[in-house]
Order: sequence, then structure tokens, then C-alpha cells
Amino acid sequence: MTRKVLLTGGCGYIGSHICMELIKQGFTPVILDNLCNSSTIPLRRIEQLTGQPIPFIEGDIRNEATLERLFSEHAIEATIHLAGLKSVAESVAKPISYYQNNFAGTLPLCEVMQRHGVKRFIYSSSATVYGLTAQSPIREDAPTAPASPYGQSKLMAEIALRDIAHADPQWKIAILRYFNPVGAHASGQIGEHPNGVPNNLMPYVSQVATGRRPFIQVFGSDYPTPDGTGVRDYLHVCDLADAHLCALRWLDGAQGIRTFNLGTGRGYSVLEIIDAYEKACGHPLPRQFLDRRPGDVASYHADPGLAVDELRWRATRDIEDMCRDAWNWQSHNPNGYVES
Ligand code: NAD
Ligand code: UDP
Repeated sequence: MTRKVLLTGGCGYIGSHICMELIKQGFTPVILDNLCNSSTIPLRRIEQLTGQPIPFIEGDIRNEATLERLFSEHAIEATIHLAGLKSVAESVAKPISYYQNNFAGTLPLCEVMQRHGVKRFIYSSSATVYGLTAQSPIREDAPTAPASPYGQSKLMAEIALRDIAHADPQWKIAILRYFNPVGAHASGQIGEHPNGVPNNLMPYVSQVATGRRPFIQVFGSDYPTPDGTGVRDYLHVCDLADAHLCALRWLDGAQGIRTFNLGTGRGYSVLEIIDAYEKACGHPLPRQFLDRRPGDVASYHADPGLAVDELRWRATRDIEDMCRDAWNWQSHNPNGYVES
């Protein structure tokens, strides 16, 4: 009997990498995804790579009947909850969808878990819950002040989880605040497939590298950073996946609720990313300098010390690994996941 872990949003970018790692470490991931921003192609590829069938339920975290059936049919011991919407810009235009999916959607999931006596929970949160003025390196006790409905919806789910853990001490909850996940699995078979024009830097750079887009738009070159461009704490998605396995083990001995930053602890500028990507893909990448993107901060990075001490996790992959693996994925899958 392997240990079953429910992975909501397991067909998505981060979920597919966690799925791979769970199987590698002997767990059985059970995937619940409504496919609103993904397909089942990554699951089929993981099945091919690992030789393991992956239980998949197409459904919504907000549908209690689906959840009831799932927890009745599978002896789940913990949930890793990634399902949700993640575009800051879209959240400004469609706040109701974000509060419904990211905040309200977390509640039926916890309710059904509670009914079935499953009280181990790992929550995908984000560094966007910190205020724009947070001092780097950012620690978990820095003030929260999200600047978008997306960030608010993640923080509201965190608050609800805190109350749930306080009401019933049997709950064991790890809130993981991701900084900037990038890169892809080393196989080149799973990676990030943004819908439409990528909002984030790394997938945009990847599409310029394959010639799908003519040039990188560098948003701002007059920031108070060493080269004037924005600085972020980029983190390899496989290091991020490893952190979830560490968190699962941490839950075995944990009590209550704890929040962890997941980042490398160092920042890279937009130009440093472009340089590293040029080395990975072997050709120059055209860029144009534009105005700052509204709402962006100049620079931030995590203090990952708590995750190092308590989860026994540390990012091991550097910027070269991130760009090499992003390029390996992009060059083999220039249009992302397409049916073969
Ligand atoms: P993604 O869009 O690739 O994956 C999310 C998955 O959830 C998709 O497969 C989507 O179909 C599914 N989904 C959405 N709403 C659902 C619902 N109501 N019911 C069932 N399934 C639903 O996104 P990702 O980059 O893999 O992000 C995963 C999680 O990590 C999200 O919660 C996001 O907020 C968080 N996060 C992501 C980043 C990032 O940069 N990618 C940073 C910080 C936090
Ligand atoms: N950025 C950029 N061009 C792009 C996308 C992003 O110059 O096409 C910059 C952005 O201004 C920020 C950094 O790259 O300084 C990371 O942006 P991303 O959207 O990836 O992450 P976030 O800002 O959400 O942390």
C-alpha cells in the first residue's frame, strides 16, 4: 500500500512537477483538476516517464459532491492544494473569480477533509502576500499587505487555514509562500505552458529564444538596483517540488500551522536572467527597454532560513540550471503541450 496524497491542480505547471516527485519518492498522487488552465497531457507524460498510472478526477475543488466521492474512494492521507487562478492582472479585472477559486474554494476542500478525518494540508501561497514595501530578505513575520485581488485571495485562504488549525489541534498545516518558480523538469517532458502572451519573465524569454516573439520587453531600467532592472528570487520548479516532499515529512511530526518562505535567498535582475538564458540557448536574445510595469517593486528576495531549519530543505539548483532546463523544455516543446 503506497501513501496517497491528493494533489489539487496537479495538471498545472507546479503540480505536474510535484506529481513527478511524489511518484519518485514512493507516494501515489491522486489528481483533482478542472483543467481550466491545463490539460491531461502532462499526466500522460509522467505516466510514460515513471511507468505508474496516475488516478485523475476531472472536477472542481468547489464541488462538494466530487470531493465526497474522491475521499470515499481513495484513502488520502494528506492534501497538497495548488488548484487556483494565478494571474495578478486578471485578478484585478475578475476579482469574484479569484475570491471564489482561491479563497472560497479552499473551504469545501477543508470541510470534506475534516469529515473524512484527513487533517494534513499543504497550501500553495505566494510571496505576493507581502506588502510592496517589505524589507528583503523577507522573513515570514514581515507584514502582509497584498496589492492585488490575487494576493488578497491567497492571504484570505491562509487566514482561514489558521483559524481551522486553531479550532482543531489535530490539523497539521504547512503554508508555503513561493517566490518566483521557473524552469522545468530535466527530462524536457514537463514544463510551463502559459495560455496566450506570458505575463512572467522566464516564459516570455523562452518564447523569444524559440523565435515565437521578436524581443524581450524589459520593464524598467531605472530601478535602484545594480543594473537598473528589477530583481527577483527565482527558484527552480524541481527545488520547489522537493520542498513539498520535505513539507509532507515535516507534517508527520508537526503540530498546528506554520508558514515557510520558499526561495533561494538571492535575487537576479532581468538582465542577469537574459544573460544566463543566452548562454543556455546559445544565441543572443533581442530586448527593448520599456517603462516600468505598474505595481512592480524594484527588488525582493526571500529569507528561506525557516525552511532550511525546519523543513530541512534548501534550493540546490542555480540560475544556469533554471535557464538550461527552461530552454530544454521550450526547445523540445515550442508550443507547449500539444496532442501528438
Ligand atoms: P497553473 O495554472 O499551471 O495550475 C493550477 C491548476 O489548477 C491548473 O491545472 C488549473 O486547471 C487548476 N484549477 C484552477 N482552479 C481550479 C478549481 N476551481 N478546481 C480544480 N482545479 C482548478 O498554476 P501554477 O503555476 O502551477 O500554480 C499552482 C499554485 O501555486 C497556485 O495556487 C498559485 O497561486 C501558486 N503560486 C504560483 C506561482 C507561480 O509563479 N507559478 C507563484 C506563487 C504561488
Ligand atoms: N519583467 C520584464 N519583462 C516581462 C516580464 C517581467 O522585464 O516580459 C520583469 C518584471 O518587471 C520583474 C521581473 O521581470 O522585474 C519578474 O517579473 P515576473 O512577472 O516574472 O514576476 P513578479 O514580478 O510577479 O515577481
